[in-house]
Amino acid sequence: MMRPVRGVAILGSTGSIGRTTLDVLRRQQEHFRLVALTGGTNAELLAAQVEDWRPAYAGLAFVRNGNGQRFPVGPDVLVEAATHPDVDIVVNAVVGAAGLAATLAALHAGKRVALANKESLVMAGELVLEAARTGQGELIPVDSEHSAVLQCLAGQRSAACRLTLTASGGPFRQWDADAVETATVTQALAHPTWQMGRKISVDSATLANKALEIIEAHFLFGLPYDALDAVVHPQSIIHALVEFCDGSVMAQIGFPTMELPILYALTWPDRLPDSGVPRFDPVRASPLTFEPVRRDVFGAFHAGVEAGRAGGTAPAAFNAANEVAVAAFLDGQIPFGQIVRVIRAVLETWDAGAATDLDSVLHADRVARSQARKLILRNST
Ligand code: NAD
Ligand code: MG
Repeated sequence: MMRPVRGVAILGSTGSIGRTTLDVLRRQQEHFRLVALTGGTNAELLAAQVEDWRPAYAGLAFVRNGNGQRFPVGPDVLVEAATHPDVDIVVNAVVGAAGLAATLAALHAGKRVALANKESLVMAGELVLEAARTGQGELIPVDSEHSAVLQCLAGQRSAACRLTLTASGGPFRQWDADAVETATVTQALAHPTWQMGRKISVDSATLANKALEIIEAHFLFGLPYDALDAVVHPQSIIHALVEFCDGSVMAQIGFPTMELPILYALTWPDRLPDSGVPRFDPVRASPLTFEPVRRDVFGAFHAGVEAGRAGGTAPAAFNAANEVAVAAFLDGQIPFGQIVRVIRAVLETWDAGAATDLDSVLHADRVARSQARKLILRNST
């Protein structure tokens, strides 16, 4: 049985996940009411969304060209939208570390967070879990692999003993190491199976995304790193494999679309019809193939998982170094192959203290960013 109409906030409504969430809500208007929206810089698109949906609150995180006059502006709009009294569910679809404060505030305020912003969990996993506990909020993944795990675990009385996340392998799955080294921005953004924002598209090309997801799974499902792995599955049909103690393995299957994981994060543990998802056809999906991750070519995967294992502030440093390096690559400042070297250089000398309070996490984020920027400057002069 579905609960009464629930209020939804979308943080990052002008992005890929944000716009897809609006598509999902359009089909579910008897169950959900849109209460709050935030965008980054795209005032025109935010204004059009406000015109369509008439939310109680809308704000922009930045202004460009004086375009923001119609909205409250500044980084605080995320927390304002996330903690609005009429909001029950916060879809955090902001990209990067900028999503952390709103994830924490929403959980402290007892909201459900439908989390696309994996970076906030990677940076501050323990703090996010603690915020959910003390605020009695709920943390439900939007990431397709983690949604798949959650769906495989639903109704199980035994815990999972091993999780395998699938990875498409990205656009460079079969490329030689030398070619990957000098791949262009256009090549890196040409993802074979998913249409996504620029940052996560580059993360999928380096496979840093899969390391972020292993860390995300560690915190969401409480499993040690030895019980978490990734496998390349180029068709992106199976989203995750969940192994139980008796050796039985459950998988969640479907054509790649974010609409289903977004809807499931809104309705969990229930389901709703009219998901907008194309009906599955195993013949059309075949063949399904699997390959190991090429760890020698995609070093960011290994570096990220090792940062997860090191714990403390190391995942926050990994995330920060990756964000800075990806932005520099997208900006034409460094070649593709430099991304992993920046990440490695920051992590090599990282002295991972505990990440038990927000100050230490934010400090680690700042220090790692500044180290990464210095490395980039040094290499480009
Ligand atoms: P995107 O770049 O398309 O959208 C990001 C949104 O966040 C935009 O609305 C942008 O204006 C806003 N934003 C950016 N920087 C901001 C800042 N500093 N402060 C406030 N708002 C800011 O990205 P996306 O592809 O939608 O991804 C969003 C998140 O979802 C990421 O964490 C990504 O890893 C995750 N995710 C995305 C997909 C996908 O299919 N796109 C799948 C799984 C997980
Ligand atoms: Mg994913």
